[in-house]
Amino acid sequence: MQTEIAKASADSLARAREIILNHGAVAFHTETVYGLGANAFDDGAVRRIFELKGRPADNPLIAHVHKDYDISALTDAIPAYAEKLREAFLPGPLTMVYPSAGKVSALVSCGLDTLAIRVPSSLTAQALLKEVNLPVAAPSANRSKHVSPVTARHVYDDFCGEIPLILDGGACEGGIESTVLDCTGEIPVILRAGLVTREMIERVAGACGVYEKKTGERPKSPGMAYKHYSPKCDTAYYGSDELNMALERYECEREAGGTPCFLCESALARSLAQRGCFVLDLGETGEQMAQKLYELLRRAEDAASLLIAIEPTARGGVMDGVFNRLTRAFGRNTDEA
Ligand code: AMP
Ligand code: MG
Repeated sequence: MQTEIAKASADSLARAREIILNHGAVAFHTETVYGLGANAFDDGAVRRIFELKGRPADNPLIAHVHKDYDISALTDAIPAYAEKLREAFLPGPLTMVYPSAGKVSALVSCGLDTLAIRVPSSLTAQALLKEVNLPVAAPSANRSKHVSPVTARHVYDDFCGEIPLILDGGACEGGIESTVLDCTGEIPVILRAGLVTREMIERVAGACGVYEKKTGERPKSPGMAYKHYSPKCDTAYYGSDELNMALERYECEREAGGTPCFLCESALARSLAQRGCFVLDLGETGEQMAQKLYELLRRAEDAASLLIAIEPTARGGVMDGVFNRLTRAFGRNTDEA
C-alpha cells in the first residue's frame, strides 16, 4: 500500500471520507499530536486501529467529533459543570469522559461504560470530522509505546505502507496529548494531565480533582498504566540535583564509543553546550517543553545511543503534563506489567 501525505483539500478530504466509510484508517493532524482515525460505529475498523498500533486491548480510544456535532446522542448525561467546560475550552485539547449511551462500537471504550469525547481545534481535524460527520475513534498515530507523532513525517516513519493517507496540517503546536477529564462524577477529575491544566479547569468548574490510582486498583484511565512515549535509544533520568552523576554517565557512554545526549531545560542546556556536550534544549516554560518534547525524543533516537534527561525545575500548570510524559518515556513512575 502507498502512503500518501496530503494537505487538507477538497480532493484529499473526499479521499479520507471514502477510506473511513470503507472501514479504513486515516491519520490526521490535531493541535495536540497526530491521530489515527476510524469510524467509531464500525467494529472492524476500530479493531484494525488496535492491530495497526499493537495497542493493548484494554486501552480505550477517544471519539473525535466536529464542533457542531450533537454529542447528546453519544452520552447518557452531561453534568452542568461539563457544559461550562465545553463552552470555555472546546474546540481544544480537552477530552471529556461521559457515561456512554452505547451507540459507538463497544471496542472504542474496551468494555467500559464510559465514552471519551474530544472536539479538536485543528482546522485539518475539523475539516475531516465535518466531511465524515460521524465520531472518529482515534488514538495517537504511533506504534504502541513509541513516541507520539507531532509531524506527518513521524506518522510516516511508523506506518509507511500500512495506512493509505496522512492529512498533513504541519507540526502540532500543542505537542502533548489532550487532558483527559472524567465528567461522570460530582466534580471533574483529571485522568491524564495536558495543556488544559487543573488551574484552568478549577477556574471554570469551581473544583477539579486529580485521579490517583490506589494500589491494586484497575486504573480509571487504562492507558495510564503503560510505559509509553519511549524513544528507541537507551535512556536515563536524573534529578535536577544529580547533575554530577548525569555527567559521569555521559562520559562513560562517550568513552565506550557511544553518542550520549542530554535533554534538559534551556539554562542548563546552554551551560552543557558550552562544555562541548551534545544537548537537546527543551525550552523554558511548560508550553515550550510540551511543544518540543516528542520532536526531541524522535530526534534523539536517530542521533544518540543514550539520551540523558535532567529533571526540569519549572513547576505547575502544563508542567504536570510534561512531567507525566517525561517520567513515563524514561521508565520512571510506571506500574505496568
Ligand atoms: P491516546 O489516544 O493514545 O492518547 O490515548 C487515549 C487516552 O484516553 C488513554 O490514556 C485512555 O486510557 C484514555 N481514555 C479513553 N477512553 C477512556 C474512558 N472511557 N475512560 C477513561 N479513560 C479513557
Ligand atoms: Mg497514545
